[in-house]
Amino acid sequence: MRPARALIDLQALRHNYQLAREVSGVRALAVIKADAYGHGAVRCAQALEACADGFAVACIEEALELRAAGIRAPVLLLEGFFEAAELALIVEHDFWCVVHSLWQLEAIEQTAVAKPLTVWLKLDSGMHRVGLHPKDYQVAYQRLQASGKVETIVLMSHFARADELDCPRSSEQVAVFEAARQGLGAQISLRNSPAVMGWPSIPSDWVRPGIMLYGSTPFEENNPVAARLQQVMTLESKVICVRELPAGEPVGYGAKFITDKPMRIGVVAMGYADGYPRHAPTGTPVLVAGQRSRLLGRVSMDMLCVDLTDVPQAGLGSTVELWGKNILASDVALAADTIPYQLFCNLRRVPLVYSEG
Ligand SMILES: *Cc1c(COP(=O)(O)O)cnc(C)c1O
Repeated sequence: MRPARALIDLQALRHNYQLAREVSGVRALAVIKADAYGHGAVRCAQALEACADGFAVACIEEALELRAAGIRAPVLLLEGFFEAAELALIVEHDFWCVVHSLWQLEAIEQTAVAKPLTVWLKLDSGMHRVGLHPKDYQVAYQRLQASGKVETIVLMSHFARADELDCPRSSEQVAVFEAARQGLGAQISLRNSPAVMGWPSIPSDWVRPGIMLYGSTPFEENNPVAARLQQVMTLESKVICVRELPAGEPVGYGAKFITDKPMRIGVVAMGYADGYPRHAPTGTPVLVAGQRSRLLGRVSMDMLCVDLTDVPQAGLGSTVELWGKNILASDVALAADTIPYQLFCNLRRVPLVYSEG
């Protein structure tokens, strides 16, 4: 069988979740949208359920998958409902629901619900994606309360630039949030992973860690919390062919790499159809037979080439780590001009193999 696979360390996932709780000191919704950033939402939720305060997903389809698998913990729909008809399911399955737009507020007012809802009322504090305008926020809160259909309201907002530690924008967003929520005695939730890891003084009754659960840092610079994260996913495969080439020979599509000396090349069963980034350039780090080496030439659909010239112990069948405990996904992302979020979410075709550490 094809040797490409993604090993998922569930013990590391729990460690990272506990770390998010420890450094924030408050309750944490584990963000497992987009199939837990490619790690498998059901298995991740099962692994976390005993310790997690709840989960957050993008939409009701993802939330229903968790309930179908027997997850009973709170599940927040980060975009709320896309049409009012979802409210019946939200009530039936006890989902928590973001309200980010006035049309959602109106839908709640106009729909009969069998049980009162838990609503996370989202403010646009400056990211300008979704969220209520500050001038509408207090009125929306009052209307939700007056509707008689809401039992709990949590006040939330989301940061656009919390991964930039020297940028004043996050503090400005907090100021907008504080002004908008003045006088409202409700719990609040502001912090995503970069804010949990890099902005300890920003208040939050609930944090919403995503990428840090999977062991990746959102920061380019060193961070003390990042140093304590454990990588959850190891994407690995094997060398399926070894070639010895003289100097001056092209490797792969487009001859994007040409040997500059006699070289040993390993062909690895991993390509962009597995989610490995096609635009990762020559030099992107890989681990071959336990030693750091580099990608060579263009990534193809099912294969890529690595440099074995200085890895004499490597040969046919050697294990290659594309990212994981040794080669950080964030370093591969940096080399490929993307972010670890996208590397994880793009993963496909590769079987996920779970372990407890
Ligand atoms: C995805 C998401 C998060 C998690 O973000 P990370 O950067 O992965 O920690 C938190 N809150 C909201 C609203 C989100 O959409």
